[in-house]
Amino acid sequence: MAKSPLHCSFCGRSRDEVKILIAGQEGHICENCVEHAREIIDQELTVKDEKGLSGFKLTVKKPMEIKKFLDEYAIGQDEAKKVLAVAVYNHYKRLQQKTPDNTNGNDVEIEKSNIIMVGETGTGKTLLAKSIARMLNVPFAIVDATVFTEAGYVGEDVESILTRLLQVCNYDVAAAERGIVYIDEIDKIARKGDNPSITRDVSGEGVQQGMLKLLEGTDVLVPPQGGRKHPEQKLIKINTQNILFICGGAFDGINKIIARRVQTNTIGFNVDKELQENMKKNLLRYINATDLKTFGLIPELLGRLPVVTHLDPLDAETLRAILTEPKNALVKQYKKLFELEGIQLTIEEDVLNFMVEKAMEYKLGARGLRSISEGILTDAMYELPSSKETQFTLDLEYAKRKFDKSKLSLLKVA
Ligand code: ADP
Repeated sequence: MAKSPLHCSFCGRSRDEVKILIAGQEGHICENCVEHAREIIDQELTVKDEKGLSGFKLTVKKPMEIKKFLDEYAIGQDEAKKVLAVAVYNHYKRLQQKTPDNTNGNDVEIEKSNIIMVGETGTGKTLLAKSIARMLNVPFAIVDATVFTEAGYVGEDVESILTRLLQVCNYDVAAAERGIVYIDEIDKIARKGDNPSITRDVSGEGVQQGMLKLLEGTDVLVPPQGGRKHPEQKLIKINTQNILFICGGAFDGINKIIARRVQTNTIGFNVDKELQENMKKNLLRYINATDLKTFGLIPELLGRLPVVTHLDPLDAETLRAILTEPKNALVKQYKKLFELEGIQLTIEEDVLNFMVEKAMEYKLGARGLRSISEGILTDAMYELPSSKETQFTLDLEYAKRKFDKSKLSLLKVA
């Protein structure tokens, strides 16, 4: 019997055998085949471990989309955002790569590029890391390098970095094995020798050594509850090959190291004065692994953190934008808080400028903006909920008065 002219081009069912037949340019598809195709897509986008456990969907965002997302939360820092976007994107790509035994032997294996971010405190390193975490659907943990000590000392073993990762994904080892870890304050484990700020403990180098094996991608035995390993604790084996590590640190004093290197490089040449001035303004832009080595990170560790990027210091203009522009900008948060009390909060422009001025004057950076706003608004937040007010306008006179009374005003820096 001749088939009805209308049929599904995929399964061949005729029009009367199916409920829906969707027309394409040169064929049709029925609802069964659409369903089937959907399942295939889901499977392809889902990374499964060998046992088929803990599949999760990877929604791959392109680097430009990732940067756009970061732009919603953090102001400026374009270079760091780009570097992070590319690293995270490639991380996803790597996760989607077929395992070597599925390949024909000619395929190139993409290696991960762990990152190190250098920037003054309060310039947005953690914010960028956290914003990335918000967007991702791989496990993400933030740990602080200062709590780790060389094995045998009081403190935590470096392996407990992975404990945090395990905890965020409910001890799902397969999920943890493709996660991302942000290690903060990496500069605090710098070696003492060449370090200009001799303030940290001697176990720095030992911790760096300990971190090597985590970063290079091997099987690591992790204490499930963190802290020190002890004999009774059953350890969990994690392979770190696909875990992306992002490290951040302020590296106080590194500007001098960069300046020394850059100057030595330019001696004897007719260097443009203007260019030199510009260079001095933001030396971090010229940072490279050599400077980090001089600061006290061991070469083996740097070798495993191949991508070095920087965050710019925040100027007044950026601080001003931080107050109002990000998705959860401080001003938006306070307005929301007041709104929940049925009060409309208006903050005058010159108050915002005043806050920025104080944050600059007291060298408090973006983090200071919050303390300054709290200092100014605490009384209002204390009194207004018990009043019948529906409007509150924060003007410069009020802001100055409250700021002068706040504890912050005592912190005057020389
Ligand atoms: P870091 O980790 O570099 O010391 P954080 O990321 O913790 O600094 O920044 C502290 C706070 O300052 C953040 O919570 C954020 O509110 C604000 N902040 C810092 N830099 C930026 C930025 N570039 N854009 C928006 N907010 C910022």
